[in-house]
Amino acid sequence: FSAGPGVLPSPVIKQIREDLEKEENSHYSILEISHRSARFDEIIHHAEDRLRQLMDIPDDYAVLFIQGGGSLQFEMLPLNLANHKNKIAVLDSGNFANKAAKAAQAVGKEATIVASSKQDRYRYLPELPADFDAADYDYLHITTNNTIEGSTYHQDNLPKTTGHLVADMSSNILAEPYNVSDFSAIFAGAQKNLGPAGVTLAIVKKDWLAEQKIEGVGPMMRYQSYIDKDSMYNTPPVFSIYALSLVLDWVFEQGGVKQLYLNNQKKAKRLYDYLDQSDFYQVPVSGEERSLTNVVFTTGDSDLDKKISLQADQEGLHNLAGHRSVGGFRASLYNAQPMAAVEALITFLEKAEKEHKS
Ligand code: PLP
Repeated sequence: FSAGPGVLPSPVIKQIREDLEKEENSHYSILEISHRSARFDEIIHHAEDRLRQLMDIPDDYAVLFIQGGGSLQFEMLPLNLANHKNKIAVLDSGNFANKAAKAAQAVGKEATIVASSKQDRYRYLPELPADFDAADYDYLHITTNNTIEGSTYHQDNLPKTTGHLVADMSSNILAEPYNVSDFSAIFAGAQKNLGPAGVTLAIVKKDWLAEQKIEGVGPMMRYQSYIDKDSMYNTPPVFSIYALSLVLDWVFEQGGVKQLYLNNQKKAKRLYDYLDQSDFYQVPVSGEERSLTNVVFTTGDSDLDKKISLQADQEGLHNLAGHRSVGGFRASLYNAQPMAAVEALITFLEKAEKEHKS
C-alpha cells in the first residue's frame, strides 16, 4: 500500500524479467543500451505516442521525459513559465502544494498562497477566493491529488480560472480522466502510476512556452532543451523510460484510463464504505473531495494506529502507516493495486477493530 514508489503491474515485472533473460546472450541488455540506439529511439517514441493516446494530449502540447522528480518541476515550472509577472498563485491544498510555493520563491519568483486549508490540517480542499484575479499571476498551481492528505480536485471540481492552470498530477495521473486542454502544463513523477522512479513527465503547452522571455536559466532547466532534443538533451533514464512504456501498454490493455477509473472508483468505494460504517476508524476528508488513490484514515489514537500498522505489516499488508507528518493510516490504491488487496485489507481492519475496540 506504499504511496511511492507504488506497486507496478505484475505483467510488467514479468516482461522486464523476460526481456533481461532474453538478452543475456546478446551483447547488451536493456540496462545497458545506448540512448542513441534504434531500440531506445523506438521505446521513447512509443511511450510518447501511447501517452498521447491514453490522455488524449493535443498536438500543441509537448510531452517531455525529465529527471529530478516532481520536486525539480516545482522549480522548472516557475523558471520557464512565470516570466511576465514573475508571480504565481498557489492553492495550498497539502504538503506538496506548499513545497511548490516555497520552491518557486527559492528560484526568485513570487508565490502567493491564494487559499489554504493548512490551518485545518488540510482536511478539505481550499477554494479560489471570489476576488481572485488570474491576470495578477503567470499561472495558478494546483496539486490534483494530495498524496499525504488524501484529497483530490477531480475534473468536475477543478478551480475555475481564466488564466493558465498548472497541475501536479504526480499521484493520480492515469487514475482518473482529466481534460488536458484545461491545463497549460501538467507534470508527474513516474513512481506512483507510471513506472519506477527516475523519470518525470512534463506536458507543456508549446505556445505558452514560446511567449516566455527566460533569462539566467541554464539549458538543463529549460523545457525547450528537452523539446529540441526529443527528451535526449543529455543521457535520459533509459531503464525508467523503458519500464514506463511497458506500464503505458499495460494501461492500454486494461482498457485505458476510462476503465482504470471505473476500477479505482470501485476499489476506493469498497474501502471508504467499510471505513464509514465503522465507528472505530475515521476518514478526515469527506464526500466528493476524497482521493481514489490515497485513502487516509485513523482510529484517532496515534499509538494504536502505529500498533495496527505494525500488525498489518506482519500479516503481509505493507506500508499502511500514514505519512510521518500526519500519522494514521494511508492505503495507496494506485492503478496496479488489485481489488483483492482491498478485500484483504478490509478483512484485516475488521479483525483489528474487534481486537482493539474498547
Ligand atoms: N507532488 C506530489 C503530489 C507527490 O506526491 C510527490 C511525492 O510523493 C511529489 C510532488 C514529489 O515528488 P518527487 O519525490 O518525485 O520529487
